[in-house]
Amino acid sequence: MRLGGPAAHLVDVASKSELLEAISWASNQALPIISIGGGSNIIWQDDGFEGLVIINKIPGYDAVAVDETTAEVTIGAGENWDDIVARTVSDGYSGIEALSLIPGSTGATPVQNVGAYGQEIAQTLVHLEAFDVEMNDFVTIPAEECNFGYRSSRFKTTDRGRFFITSITLRLSKDKPQPPFYPALQRYLEEHNITEPDAAIIREAVIAIRSSKLPDPDLVANNGSFFANPIISQQQLAAIQAISDEAVPHWPTNEGLVKVAAAWLVENAGFKDFHDTQTGMATWHKQPLVLVNEGAQSTEQLIEFRQKIIAAVQEKFGITLEQEPELLP
Ligand code: NAP
Repeated sequence: MRLGGPAAHLVDVASKSELLEAISWASNQALPIISIGGGSNIIWQDDGFEGLVIINKIPGYDAVAVDETTAEVTIGAGENWDDIVARTVSDGYSGIEALSLIPGSTGATPVQNVGAYGQEIAQTLVHLEAFDVEMNDFVTIPAEECNFGYRSSRFKTTDRGRFFITSITLRLSKDKPQPPFYPALQRYLEEHNITEPDAAIIREAVIAIRSSKLPDPDLVANNGSFFANPIISQQQLAAIQAISDEAVPHWPTNEGLVKVAAAWLVENAGFKDFHDTQTGMATWHKQPLVLVNEGAQSTEQLIEFRQKIIAAVQEKFGITLEQEPELLP
């Protein structure tokens, strides 16, 4: 978002030993530590941070064949995520191709269980390696112990700040991606007369769709989707539907609950292509879920704009939107 105050100290680490060195340097001085990746899904408070920011740049890519169609790929947490998606796809593997063009680093993907177009990292993650501050050692955490939920994991909830992820291991397959595909993907395939897409075609489609709809964070300051899609009860859905002329977009999830499109709620609460002169913030004209910084000077202004949206959605639909990017420190 190009906002927020300065860090007192900041260091890049490119190996596990450099990570250990940075952690012990900070702990010797009793400084708090925050570890980040690409920085695409975080917002900094205006006060900044009186501690050490560690930027994880740990590299690595090691693919081991499990059998003729499957491989386990171990990737350094500091690798650029989309470069990794490109590499697995060009090696003929499927499993993360729908997660193409997501900005940020590889080690960040399990934190919010990154997902898009029907794939999420929890589906392919075998295990990850991390430095555990509590154990003061490196640990291997199997996927079943990550408490993955919808855009969530233990790393952003119960164990926030405890683990520094150093690598992730994914199980990928040479099998073709299977339908049904998300509507936007299906439309792309039909328009291009493709009936049996491979991973490379899905990647191509996702890149085309995302580039046409989402702002490039290198050019326009944004955090991607700013609010998570709320998971609500059938009764809540019926209440929203009762006050809406058009069908409320929703999908079934576990335990009889439904996921409702946050973008639809934001747009229908009055924030379609909305440019807020008071704060300098706006909603992206092609996707209201993406908040962009057009002229805001502080994180306080971003938060003011966020609150306007949350209040309007609450007032109209009785739903409290949850912020997706992490506010630090
Ligand atoms: P879209 O295709 O217009 O769909 C809008 C919403 O409907 C999405 O949030 C998606 O939920 C949901 N949806 C659509 N088809 C679905 C299906 N068959 N089953 C279940 N849910 C369905 O969405 P969009 O805004 O252009 O985004 C497309 C994908 O990219 C989505 O998966 C979205 O999460 C992802 N994305 C992520 C970010 C980010 O920063 N994290 C930013 C933009 C887009 P889900 O979000 O649960 O998939």
